[in-house]
Amino acid sequence: MSSKRKHNEINGDPVPDKHLYKAGGPKDDDVYFMAVALLFAKKSLDPNTKVGACIVNQEGNIVGIGYNKMPNGCEDEFPWERKAENRLDTKYPYVCHAELNAIMNKTSMDVKGCTIYVTLYPCNECAKLIIQSGIRHVVYLTNKYPDTEETQASQRLLDAAGITHRQRNDPCSLLSSIDPSAE
Ligand SMILES: [Zn+2]
Repeated sequence: MSSKRKHNEINGDPVPDKHLYKAGGPKDDDVYFMAVALLFAKKSLDPNTKVGACIVNQEGNIVGIGYNKMPNGCEDEFPWERKAENRLDTKYPYVCHAELNAIMNKTSMDVKGCTIYVTLYPCNECAKLIIQSGIRHVVYLTNKYPDTEETQASQRLLDAAGITHRQRNDPCSLLSSIDPSAE
């Protein structure tokens, strides 16, 4: 089996090329999917950084949604602080990032060949998850921390694994152009 065919499979069935969803393709649905990621970012209880993620399969269907949150059942147990004398009193050791939650909450058998829309460039830990899950494309809204080691490691990881990553930062203009009262 060629690697091309392998990437074109959903639930074991090969999908004809012409039916494959392509982010940034002529239908430009990626703006809509980024808007969905943005919407779910709003659900985060993090007072400083709200991140949303939306996974789309090769047929153009949403198969996973996530936002940054504390582990299930522990929502009230851990702090959202960014700084503290003891790192154990910050959010960092506990919080589950949007990408992790989107992958874990997937509604499909797997997310191989999928595109993940995320409102913030993935950190290196999420880059590893993305690679290991079989996701092939990352579309991000912002890259607030391009100079951090986490972001640089993430770029190296995604590049080495051949995962595309590109910015799409115009869904806000799309949202403002939607007028529910328009004919
Ligand atoms: Zn992350």
